[in-house]
Amino acid sequence: METTCWIRRVRPYGGDMQDIKVVDGRIAALTPASDTPASGADLDGQGQLLTLPLVESHIHLDKTLWGLPWRAHSAGPSLTELIGNERQVLRTLTSPIAERAGALLAHCIAKGTQLVRCHVDVDPELGLRHVEAMLALRTRFAPLVDMQLVAFPQTGLITNPGTAALMREAVAMGVDVLGGLDPCGIDKDPIAHLTSIFELARDMDCGVDIHLHDGGELGLWEIERIIDFTERYQRQGRVMISHAFCLGMKPWPVIAPLAARLAANGVSILSSAPADIEIPPFLPLQQAGVNVCLGSDGIRDAWTPMGNGDMLERAMLLAYRFDMRRDDELQLAFEAATRVGAKALGHEDYGMAVGKPAHFVLFPSETLAEAIVSRPLARTVIRHGRVIARDGQLLAEAG
Ligand SMILES: [Zn+2]
Repeated sequence: METTCWIRRVRPYGGDMQDIKVVDGRIAALTPASDTPASGADLDGQGQLLTLPLVESHIHLDKTLWGLPWRAHSAGPSLTELIGNERQVLRTLTSPIAERAGALLAHCIAKGTQLVRCHVDVDPELGLRHVEAMLALRTRFAPLVDMQLVAFPQTGLITNPGTAALMREAVAMGVDVLGGLDPCGIDKDPIAHLTSIFELARDMDCGVDIHLHDGGELGLWEIERIIDFTERYQRQGRVMISHAFCLGMKPWPVIAPLAARLAANGVSILSSAPADIEIPPFLPLQQAGVNVCLGSDGIRDAWTPMGNGDMLERAMLLAYRFDMRRDDELQLAFEAATRVGAKALGHEDYGMAVGKPAHFVLFPSETLAEAIVSRPLARTVIRHGRVIARDGQLLAEAG
């Protein structure tokens, strides 16, 4: 039987007051607000700012220490030290992934995130344990969040024989995207690395998401090769380069031709807007038509004690990093944490239009810019027209 409810008196993106009709969990109509009071299953938005849900485009839920007693950071500063230290820490953990990742995911959802791309470690030592746990977690949380999983070769692909076969198996089990990691810096054989991933992506018809920390000319050369492979294997619109610090290490005239190729091939760039290194130049890339989206990366794990899963805060960190003060600039930061993320993830069931899912967040803020700056704890998360979280807490009946 068809179910109908209304979300009344809300201001989509800070505009005029509207009522939203929801039928079977999807937007059926957007109309100017009426005097009709909210009744029954209706929700009274009380004039709050309404937006589409936040999008977490890059997280490592499987490795978080969320919910465990505080652990002091123990890694050295280099990438190989961070990877090695993490492996040591993971070996000592007794708390299951379902518990740690589940607690963090619930927290992210309560903050307003309803679309997540999660990288999941795959290698011969771990086998497919993390993949199995994350697939089960995705099923458990399906009523509350849409989740993509990436098979991530954290300890190398070419340098760690057996990993590629496990990644193929992971995709066969239900993982959506093939990951990669520094084809030069970690794997030392960029063409073999990219060939392995892109051949598998073509065979299994899936997307690609490559962690690229390599800097300077080397990193830029790798980005060119990733675009070459995207063209050769016809993965346009389905490739992401995560971090890509190198794009921030050269003047824009050097980057511009590369940006044009990224845009033309729908190769997206993910940033966590870290403070310690150059990052992709957000506004010029955005103006060049490149999808630049945001993610938390690791949260409260062996890589970093930082992060709180709030994508509104991630938008603020991006704006802070580039000194974006104007409302239109802050709005672009918000887009990177919402609409552009959904686009980069190829998730089409997202938008403020009739027929799209009635997934929203309400903020007690006048404008988007104010919401980013104040990051209010008081938010209402709506999924399929029903409230699933209030004030940073999932409702018990939500799942
Ligand atoms: Zn990552």
